[in-house]
This record gives sequence, structure tokens and C-alpha cells, in this order.
Amino acid sequence: MCEFCLKHGEGKKWYLQARHYSDDLLADARRRRFIEGFFKDPDALKESVRRIDDFEKAPRLVQGLLRRLITRRMKKDHYGQVVPIEDVERIFAFTNSIVRIACICRHTTVGREARFCYGVSLSPDGGGRFGEILRRLDQSFLAGPNTGGVETLTRADALAAFRDHEREGLCHTVWTFRTPFIGGVCNCDRTDCLAMRCTVTHRLPIMFRAEYVAVLDPDACVGCRQCMRVCQFGAISYSAARGKAAIDPRTCYGCGVCRAACAKSAIRLADRSAVPEAAKLW
Ligand code: SF4
Ligand code: SF4
Repeated sequence: MCEFCLKHGEGKKWYLQARHYSDDLLADARRRRFIEGFFKDPDALKESVRRIDDFEKAPRLVQGLLRRLITRRMKKDHYGQVVPIEDVERIFAFTNSIVRIACICRHTTVGREARFCYGVSLSPDGGGRFGEILRRLDQSFLAGPNTGGVETLTRADALAAFRDHEREGLCHTVWTFRTPFIGGVCNCDRTDCLAMRCTVTHRLPIMFRAEYVAVLDPDACVGCRQCMRVCQFGAISYSAARGKAAIDPRTCYGCGVCRAACAKSAIRLADRSAVPEAAKLW
């Protein structure tokens, strides 16, 4: 189990603890201020993007120090974890409100509204205090063309949208707003999602790998390589001699996107702790 499960999970996966989605945690004024600040000025992220892209120009020693400092800070404030679709379904089953909002990362990196982020809450009606915070924001990135900013979805519609995102090759993730409060479940790619770009491209961890790892059945694999095309983590290779794909458990983030893409059902997700090469990799 990851560090957050050990600290906040009480024997379960931490993001399956309902209290982490409750309005009680939003009684903390610092947390509310953090959320407001996070969404208030999306253009401020542009400066962060510039700094992230400069990161690898720094001397190695400085990079190492910065990595540790930034990761430690982000674990307290805004940290994520990859979650496969079955755990998204479990989260949706016990939360009472799901709203879709524009993605702040895409607003910054693509320069237009793109709705890939979902606020989740135990409170009904758009997420109680969390919904109020979002609705108070008068920012162009929240103002969709037809939706008045925040769309409320049924569980079934939200899950169907997540399955569509997965078919597009997007990786599901949960996000804290001052840990352990979880405010959102997102759909990420390493080109547009800043956290994923930091974590995967720049090796600056802003999110954990999933509690799972993908395992491929070579007998079922026909070597079509569709899984390779969708893996955003570079965990899948292909052996021309054997005509089969192979998954490197040390590189796999356990998102399950390859599983969804495999028409031969040759890929399953196993508990990370049961796969020795991956068990201690987060
Ligand atoms: S998508 Fe499935 S069948 Fe195709 S290469 Fe990958 S594991 Fe094999
Ligand atoms: S191998 Fe599959 S589960 Fe692992 S990171 Fe790649 S797409 Fe995700």
C-alpha cells in the first residue's frame, strides 16, 4: 500500500475512505483558501509551466534537491494517485455528488476549455461547500458554452464519461486539496496534464502510481500492439521474434488503459503488493 494508505487508509485504500470526501474537512479555513487560490488564477499556472520546462536545465544536484522539496510540499497540498476504472466506480458508489468542470491544466497548456475534471463529494446538490467554492469563482475557464460553469452528472453518466475517457487513452487520477481531502477525480495525459508531465516526463513526483500493476498473459496476446499505443508511461514493449507484447512492472503505473484497449483480454490488473518487482515502487 502507498504511503497515503498507511497514513490515511486505516487498512483500506485511502481514496476509498468516504470521510476524505466530506464537507467536514472543508471546515478548515486554510483548506478553503487553498482551493480558492488554486482555481482563482489559472493563468498563474503558465509561470509554473515555464519553470517545469526549465527544470531539467538545472544542475543534477539542484534537480535532486528540488525534487525532494517539491514532492514533500505537494504531498501536503495537492497530490494525486492513479486509479483504475473499477476504483473510480467504487468512489462514485459512495459519493453523492459528481460535477464536471473545466480542467485548469488544459486551460493553461492548450489555451481553451476542456472538461476532463470531476468534483466529487459526500454532500448532495453539487458538493456542498466544495460546490459553493467552485460556483463563487467567476473565471472564464469555468464558464462553459452551455452549462453555466459546473455540470452536475448522475453516477451512470459520470461513469460512462470515464469509460469514454479511458477509450481515448486517458489515465484516471484522484487529487487532494490539502491532503487527505479529495476534491476531484481527473482524466490525465502527459502532454496536457501538468502533474503527469512533472511526474513522468520530468521524474518530479506529483502523484503516486496505482495500487495495481498490469500483468500480460502471453498465451492470449496476439501481438497487435494496441496496448503499446495507449500506454502513456512507456511500460510496454514488443518482441518481434515472439510476436508478443510485454509489460515492465517497474515502469507500469497501473492505470488499466492498456487493458481497456486489448481486444483479446490479455491484460489484467494485479495488486501491486503481489508483484515483487513493483511492490515497493510508487
Ligand atoms: S493489445 Fe492485447 S493482444 Fe494486442 S499486443 Fe497488447 S496484450 Fe497483446
Ligand atoms: S502498462 Fe497498462 S496499466 Fe501499466 S501504465 Fe501502461 S497502460 Fe497503464
